[in-house]
Amino acid sequence: MNEARLFELITWAYLALAPLVFVLLLVVPAPYGRYTRAGFGPTLDRRLGWVLMEAPSPLLVLGLFVLGDRQGNLVALLFVLLWLSHYLHRAFLFPFQMRGGARQMTWAAALLGFAFNCGNGYLNGRFVAQLGPERGLAWLADPRFVAGVVLFALGYAINRHADLVLHRLRAPGETGYKIPHGGLYRWISCPNYLGEIVEWSGWALATWSLPGLAFAAFTAANLAPRALAHHRWYRAHFADYPPERRALIPFVV
Ligand code: NDP
Repeated sequence: MNEARLFELITWAYLALAPLVFVLLLVVPAPYGRYTRAGFGPTLDRRLGWVLMEAPSPLLVLGLFVLGDRQGNLVALLFVLLWLSHYLHRAFLFPFQMRGGARQMTWAAALLGFAFNCGNGYLNGRFVAQLGPERGLAWLADPRFVAGVVLFALGYAINRHADLVLHRLRAPGETGYKIPHGGLYRWISCPNYLGEIVEWSGWALATWSLPGLAFAAFTAANLAPRALAHHRWYRAHFADYPPERRALIPFVV
């Protein structure tokens, strides 16, 4: 089988898996963070778990770009920079900024995340660096690129702000949970997840690619059930939880 065929098969496998993951995670919240619990096998330090899970994304996309034929293509370079702007932080800074003491993560969650990001980094990296259509400078003025980059930036800002609010809820060494306030927390419990979904939807639009669409779908399949679970958890644990707050989409759900 040639690489183009394999690439297509993996892309369609990701697209097909997204709805299954969505249903599974509605029933069983992914066992990390507040849902880390016995019964999912051995655990490792959660900071190492995050680095293990996320590192393949920036390393693969950067490596494939460097090894591919498009280093001189400005649009491809911009895509790689967008990707790295998110993933260098997520893989190598975010894990060390998390507060809450020396927590554990299940190996199962870390290895599933690792496998997902290996496939996802490969698909998006190869699309940009070699297998997708080579975009000329005219793509920079295409409405799909412009709208996609605006969405990406908006999602990025929402995600980073929401994660920062959570970070500031705990003093160093503190482990409990509090009600977050500020920004989109006024209307929803999980603006970090909304931002992430918007961000990768923007990526899918800007790259106009099936791997981008698969990633956006997978992100939503992963994070929408987690937002619903967090929302239920907040309501169950805080009697004064703001009643007007929704889980993921203001005024809707
Ligand atoms: P969570 O919101 O569950 O937790 C983020 C951090 O904030 C953790 O350190 C958590 O502590 C802490 N925290 C959360 N809520 C509170 C609270 N009420 N009070 C005090 N501390 C709190 O996010 P995730 O860990 O699921 O995700 C982290 C980031 O990774 C997000 O930006 C998310 O969008 C992204 N992500 C992206 C995915 C994708 O598919 N693209 C998949 C998964 C995550 P603790 O760990 O102790 O609960």
